[in-house]
Amino acid sequence: MTELERNLNAVRERLATAAERACRSPNEINIVAVTKAVQPECVEEALGTGLTVFGESKVQEAMAKIPLVSSRARWHMIGHLQTNKARDAVALFELIHSVDSVKLAVELDKCAGRAGKTQPILLEVNVSGEAGKSGLRPEDLAVTLEQINALPRIEIRGLMTIAPFAEDVEKARPHFRRLRELRDEVQNKLGMQLPELSMGMSYDFEPAVEEGATMVRIGTAIFGERRTHDA
Ligand SMILES: *Cc1c(COP(=O)(O)O)cnc(C)c1O
Repeated sequence: MTELERNLNAVRERLATAAERACRSPNEINIVAVTKAVQPECVEEALGTGLTVFGESKVQEAMAKIPLVSSRARWHMIGHLQTNKARDAVALFELIHSVDSVKLAVELDKCAGRAGKTQPILLEVNVSGEAGKSGLRPEDLAVTLEQINALPRIEIRGLMTIAPFAEDVEKARPHFRRLRELRDEVQNKLGMQLPELSMGMSYDFEPAVEEGATMVRIGTAIFGERRTHDA
């Protein structure tokens, strides 16, 4: 067994155990394998082990890497996206997890229209209120959702958050729970369906799964420590 296979088995085991604790089926939870700073050959190897969805945090890195990987791979944008990269993002990504402003959504809508597609997105929410972090303020979510939902070429599938890092992983749980509650609130208020919750990374995906994550974004636990660190 390769190191990658061992890592992936361990992640699947942790995920299944967490799902079981919450009486959920592990099949409801999709792994987005985060490939920032991971070489294309290694992504190809990951494809061979059954992973199909990969997450990149920078458009430029993704643009260089994606053409070098088999077209069976599906790509998600998980990092902060600048408006001037909207066109490339629409061309590259099946789902954009990190939409955090009406301005960005308007640009994505325009680019999707020109490309003749509808762009699925998630809205990133800064649940913890940490300064300097991207994401919508929870109190702005409902109004922003309504504005973005009016854009013809954008399809909002759900919400995403990044919990603050803490030694004690249980400290992340209230943030994940809050994202789910926020989702339930806006679903009721606006009468729309937001099925996806993208939350949980290598060190904190278990509480995220227990709190209702449908996508976990996992890099280090699958591919090992990155040599260049960036959020
Ligand atoms: C890097 C990154 C991840 C994955 O982090 P790991 O700790 O390596 O699992 C998840 N989400 C976002 C937004 C990231 O930038």
